[in-house]
Amino acid sequence: MSPDSARAEVSTETRTNLVGLSRAALGEAFAALGEKPFRAKQVWHWIYHRGARDFAAMTDLSKDLRAKLENHFVVARPTVAREQTSTDRTRKWLVQFDDGQKAETVFIPEDDRGAVCVSSQVGCTLTCRFCHTGTQRLVRNLTPAEIVGQFMLARDSYGEWPTPTDERRMLSNIVMMGMGEPLYNFDNVATALKIIMANDGIAVGKRRITLSTSGVVPEIRRCGAELGVNLAISLHAPDDDTRSVIMPINKKYPLKELMQACRDYPGASNARRITFEYVMLKGLNDTPAHARALIKLVKDIPCKFNLIPFNPWPGTPYECSDAATIDSFAQTLWDAGFTAPIRTPRGRDILAACGQLKTDSERLSAKESRERAAAEAEAAKVMWAEKESSV
Ligand code: SAH
Ligand code: SF4
Repeated sequence: MSPDSARAEVSTETRTNLVGLSRAALGEAFAALGEKPFRAKQVWHWIYHRGARDFAAMTDLSKDLRAKLENHFVVARPTVAREQTSTDRTRKWLVQFDDGQKAETVFIPEDDRGAVCVSSQVGCTLTCRFCHTGTQRLVRNLTPAEIVGQFMLARDSYGEWPTPTDERRMLSNIVMMGMGEPLYNFDNVATALKIIMANDGIAVGKRRITLSTSGVVPEIRRCGAELGVNLAISLHAPDDDTRSVIMPINKKYPLKELMQACRDYPGASNARRITFEYVMLKGLNDTPAHARALIKLVKDIPCKFNLIPFNPWPGTPYECSDAATIDSFAQTLWDAGFTAPIRTPRGRDILAACGQLKTDSERLSAKESRERAAAEAEAAKVMWAEKESSV
């Protein structure tokens, strides 16, 4: 891309975007224009219940008011740079923001419902070795408008406005499992999710929202207190040695602290269990001994597992565990009384599956990242074997 065309992508819009303002901030913006609070409520309804994209559509506002709002505000979503639909109906949007940066949003349909997988950052500060996004440097946090906007454009794409009131929605659930670590962008994620949860708008409730984290312990506590959404933890290993190799954040927040944050998570109960995501990496975390260690680790936490066959990406040094190994790993967990489904990969053909999302800002060359991860994987296997043989 030439520098000129890169510049041309950047918006020069100076009006305030109403999408992404908290309810209080929207009220303040209207008050600053001398407008009454009920006007803000009306506009909220148009934006988040009806899906209006401009003031012209807001027909119960006077023409004068519409013109005034138009002068000061916009109702803007990010733009869709590319939309792809997989042979299994999974849909992925490459979403572009005002400054030209991009992230990805994915919809994973089931028969009559489905989850929208939303990104929270462009890139990621963390470098989990099995994750494609982790090879990309963190460019920036997404704003509340950019987070809510991803869900709104998914609804645009499926024609799900106004918000169906009978709860029968194709886009029924939200998972914060796209690019980035949502708990390293907590404030913006929280503002966005509060907008999404509001009953008089998009109205996807906290029981239909799951936030996945690599384990940012202090923010897990805030997430529980302020949002109360379902929690998923990217666990991926039952011991600190292995986990620190594949997920460097474990050095900062080791398993003992992470497990305590899970025990303390409000609302964690048998009816509302924490999900432990576990990516199956051949030879690294998939042996019967790993399964037994895992059972011991989580024994007093109301939880279930989600076993994710590793999704490869160009340049990865890892391999997915064999199907038989995954089956017996799952069986060990079921036998111990845990729910442990094996997640069917979705949208692999369009690189939309877990851990495959990545836009174009590189951090490491593919060769560097491959070599580093291969060396570390060997070290982890050796550490595990040494520990096993010493018990
Ligand atoms: N940053 C958050 C959320 C995004 S990742 C987190 O790490 O939890 C969503 C899930 O996909 C996480 O469980 C992540 O560990 C997993 N994942 C990452 N790379 C993967 C890959 N290549 N194959 C399968 N799952 C992967
Ligand atoms: Fe970031 Fe999550 Fe990928 Fe780790 S798994 S690099 S935290 S997006």
